[in-house]
Amino acid sequence: MENIYDVAVIGAGPAGITAAIYLKRAELNCCIIEKEMPGGQINKSSVVENYPGFTEISGPDLAEKFYEQINNLDIKQIYKEVLEIENQKEYKIIKFKNNEFIKAKNIILAVGRSPKKLNNNSDRLQGKGISFCSLCDGNLYKNEDVSIVGAGNSALEESLYLADICKTVTIINRSSSLKGDKILISRANKRSNIKVINNAQIKEFIDKDGILDSINIKVNDDIKNLKTKACFIFIGYEPATKFLKNLEILDEKGYIRVDEQKRTSIKGIYAAGDVVKKDAFQIVTATSDGALAAVSCIKDMKEV
Ligand SMILES: Cc1cc2nc3c(=O)[nH]c(=O)nc-3n(C[C@H](O)[C@H](O)[C@H](O)COP(=O)(O)OP(=O)(O)OC[C@H]3O[C@@H](n4cnc5c(N)ncnc54)[C@H](O)[C@@H]3O)c2cc1C
Repeated sequence: MENIYDVAVIGAGPAGITAAIYLKRAELNCCIIEKEMPGGQINKSSVVENYPGFTEISGPDLAEKFYEQINNLDIKQIYKEVLEIENQKEYKIIKFKNNEFIKAKNIILAVGRSPKKLNNNSDRLQGKGISFCSLCDGNLYKNEDVSIVGAGNSALEESLYLADICKTVTIINRSSSLKGDKILISRANKRSNIKVINNAQIKEFIDKDGILDSINIKVNDDIKNLKTKACFIFIGYEPATKFLKNLEILDEKGYIRVDEQKRTSIKGIYAAGDVVKKDAFQIVTATSDGALAAVSCIKDMKEV
């Protein structure tokens, strides 16, 4: 039998999970599709302190709670990467590898963002000292000297997490001051094993036998060599929308254009969460978007 859904939600981060909860409670035939694991980016957050209802909770624990909720509601989950979407007259065709596909009358895109990479040929050392997830890899560097590239909230939160495990954490900051929330900057400043190098530019990652050993950094006009066992990179994110280029719903930076109710310019396609341009890329804004997108979709289906 062909797999045809009323609504397919793509992405099981906070936005997609919220949308799926609203759709299922409206008794629609829906599914949620995820290429990695439920919870999305929050799986990479060491601690969340700004999501109401939880004074302090680890990202993976919060992801687990979201996951429990979609399981309890018996929401159909498909663990595959979506490679393309074709907008046909009656259905949207959602394509996976090996020519597999499903059909849906409506789609909510909640595919979030992925971390930006540095241009300094850092790829070759990924998993060999260079990491984008302190929660995943921090424990490998217990009592060692590590570094972080970035100066925003993610970089600060993760430097505080690493400071509990590692000997020293050096924040390499391109600008002249840190940019995150004041509460996080003040906590980082109080930690004796967190150092900040401002006005610093990464010039080169240096390896020893294929493993990161040090970094050459340009500070003002001087080149300094910083010994480091690991370098965690938090320099921002880009929307995970390369597979949607054929749909013409993206802005010049790759974010999905939506109206206030999260409708795109294509009938039956909605978008929610970090994949939509906004001022605060957070769990609360993602869940709010997910609810709005689902409500719009439910409303539009009733009007057909
Ligand atoms: C280190 C770190 C710390 C953070 N700390 C906080 C915090 O303390 N508080 C806070 O509010 N926010 C925090 N955030 C931000 C928060 O995690 C995001 O704003 C939120 O997760 C966005 O939710 P989303 O559902 O829009 O996207 P995401 O969480 O990015 O989820 C998108 C999902 O879509 C999936 N996907 C993408 N492309 C495809 C495809 N083609 N096919 C199938 N699946 C696909 C991805 O695998 C992912 O699971 C943090 C983020 C990071 C990285």
